[in-house]
Amino acid sequence: MSNLKLCQGTQCHTYHTQDRLKGVKGNKTYQTRRRSNFYYGNGNFCDQRCLYDWINTYIERGLDYFGRTKEPKHLTEDCAWVKNYDWRSNPDESHRHYFLNTITKERRPITEQQYDDNNYDINN
Ligand SMILES: [Zn+2]
Repeated sequence: MSNLKLCQGTQCHTYHTQDRLKGVKGNKTYQTRRRSNFYYGNGNFCDQRCLYDWINTYIERGLDYFGRTKEPKHLTEDCAWVKNYDWRSNPDESHRHYFLNTITKERRPITEQQYDDNNYDINN
């Protein structure tokens, strides 16, 4: 029992599902879900509804505490390179892999191995 995690949703106990209904006859309550593992919000919430209940309750305080974005951030040309490829249906022709600069639209050819290599970037 102590290894089970409690859903951190602020309203979890108010949703009327059979798995939340606990206790003996005459003394039953809907309770916050307890599980060994959750899949939402870094493993803290039983479902999306509970995740969004928490966000809606705490988001303003969180943004005030951690700092709001007050000016646009910029992604410059130097950082605008992505890997891409043109797919070829002809089996005699291989797909064409390349770096694409999403701002300038410049293309630089690379090999399929370079495309597949997660450590290979435009600066290699
Ligand atoms: Zn929940």
